[in-house]
Amino acid sequence: MKTIGIIGGGQLGRMLAMAAARLNFRTVVLEPQPDCPAAQVANDQIVAAYDDPRALDELARVADLITYEFENVPVSAAEQLARSRPVFPPPKALEVAQDRLAEKRFINGCGIATAGFQPVDSQADLEAALAEFGGAGVLKTRRLGYDGKGQRVFRSATDDPAGAYVALGQVPLILESFVPFDREISVIAARAADGTTACFDPAENVHRNGILHTSTVPASVGPSATEAARKAATAILDALGYVGVIGVEFFVLADGGVVANEIAPRVHNSGHWTEAACVVSQFEQHIRAIAGLPLGDPSRHSDCVMQNLVGDDIARVPDLLAERNVFLHLYGKAEARPGRKMGHFTRLL
Ligand code: ATP
Ligand code: MG
Ligand code: MG
Repeated sequence: MKTIGIIGGGQLGRMLAMAAARLNFRTVVLEPQPDCPAAQVANDQIVAAYDDPRALDELARVADLITYEFENVPVSAAEQLARSRPVFPPPKALEVAQDRLAEKRFINGCGIATAGFQPVDSQADLEAALAEFGGAGVLKTRRLGYDGKGQRVFRSATDDPAGAYVALGQVPLILESFVPFDREISVIAARAADGTTACFDPAENVHRNGILHTSTVPASVGPSATEAARKAATAILDALGYVGVIGVEFFVLADGGVVANEIAPRVHNSGHWTEAACVVSQFEQHIRAIAGLPLGDPSRHSDCVMQNLVGDDIARVPDLLAERNVFLHLYGKAEARPGRKMGHFTRLL
């Protein structure tokens, strides 16, 4: 039986391990936190930092191939592993996804529109960039942001940028032009080593407090936006020589045009609905792709809404269990802290 190494021990790693087990793979998780969500279901855990060279050697020894469940795996760790084992998605995808500036340049290089952007390395840079965008924009840390953390929105020229560079930590930043979108969608797409691709239907995403709240399928966007988003996701996969599942987020404009926001070189929260509404989930699709198995059919058999259970939402579980057509998935986290993703459910419509 082959063993898949998974870097990262969160809920995405947990769901990958479950899908891997169903296809007769063993899994070993590299994660510093003991009893993490993924280690509760994987066959084994290496308890160590993601960049611990001895732990990486151990992972390469016990695993036949290696993947990851979050995009902030140190590129040097992925490269070290790639010298002795297949690492999917390719480390290049990590490099691009870890820095919003490199990411936007890469996406534009694929012929895909993004928000306008300027690197910001000082308060003076910020003020110059804001002036260029008419006083509105979204300032973001280039690295390590998620769930809207490390961001500041400027809605108009009356928003005073004083102190914003310091407030975001004096780290490399990017100012994006403000995209007046109608809706947000994401495409979960997969590419196999032979270049075959498969896209799940776009999900329409609504955020609350910066955290994904619901993903609804089908998205209420026209066929041209759907087609443009699929085409863009596929172009990104091909340009990266990608193997595995990727999540690509888009803004949809009033005229149906799409603007790419960011990529996640991994399974994605906005693809959780696939486990309830498709025969092959994004998790199984990822395992199939990295293990050299044929990709599954990405079509859906049901319309659905996926909703995250964040913090105290976990108290809804008894009610959800009593509902028909609800697929519930909990992550094995003992403590429900505010903003912490505890689970999700998908209601088939
Ligand atoms: P995630 O948890 O999805 O990784 P993140 O912290 O990486 O989120 P983004 O996805 O870049 O952050 O932005 C969070 C949200 O802020 C977006 O989903 C969108 O609603 C809004 N947003 C981000 N950039 C822009 C922009 N340039 N114009 C308008 N709205 C934006
Ligand atoms: Mg992000
Ligand atoms: Mg995002």
